[in-house]
Amino acid sequence: MKKGKKLYEGKAKIIYASAEKNLVIQHFKDDATAFNNQKKSVIEGKGILNNRISEHILTYLGQVGIKNHLIKRINMREQLIKYVNIIPIEFIVRNIATGSLTKRLGIEEGTTLEKPLLEYCFKNDKLGDPLISREHIITFNWLNLMELEWINEQCRRINDLLQGMFRSVGIKLVDFKIEFGKTKDENKIILADEISPDTCRLWDINTEKKLDKDRFRKNLGNLIEAYQDVARRLGILHEHSNIKPLKFPKPKAVKLKK
Ligand code: UDP
Repeated sequence: MKKGKKLYEGKAKIIYASAEKNLVIQHFKDDATAFNNQKKSVIEGKGILNNRISEHILTYLGQVGIKNHLIKRINMREQLIKYVNIIPIEFIVRNIATGSLTKRLGIEEGTTLEKPLLEYCFKNDKLGDPLISREHIITFNWLNLMELEWINEQCRRINDLLQGMFRSVGIKLVDFKIEFGKTKDENKIILADEISPDTCRLWDINTEKKLDKDRFRKNLGNLIEAYQDVARRLGILHEHSNIKPLKFPKPKAVKLKK
């Protein structure tokens, strides 16, 4: 796949033009940032893992009817995606209270929410991605009411699907952030960006060990090992990771005594 010029560079990804007008190449970097860019690091191999995990999740969501930008993975760090105008809103779905929710409202860390909580943040680094309400979205014409209702419904469905997917491999989906965009060709709203341990909080069901970017935010270490654990549990094989398929010794030939 021929890579064209760089169209956009974000904190963890770069978008390049492709040979096709309505498709672009999404490149996953190893850069990690937190707390609105105040904490930065490069974690070797993170981009490769996120590329694979996001591909796996978006492929699954596509198969069950959640339209999204993924066309195909091209190589270890890149995927071909539909070119969209990103809607400037982060849609956050929470099942368990942690992170900014606990800080903002004093809700006890780890509280299981009675039903999933949907929050919206305005995507703007300079302003620190402030929390916004439905009214802001409508007032500033970021979406019309019908579009917003449709996306809300998609968020709830995606949460149900991902909760099931992770539960089946012993992981609690605590919360996650997703983004939507409007396709350049048809102006249709689809799921975009990425879904990975960078954008989700994932806890081991039994031990509540964090298997996500909180390992970086909270200096817990072993981030790559945790992301690899997620990939391994999801059944994703990596050509270039330390994940090795389980090998069982060949049964030895047994000589029978005469
Ligand atoms: N999140 C994200 N990008 C952001 C902000 C949040 O992917 O810019 C994800 C984060 O990983 C978590 C969820 O959204 O899974 C909720 O994050 P929260 O609002 O608690 O933010 P934080 O505690 O990271 O400031």
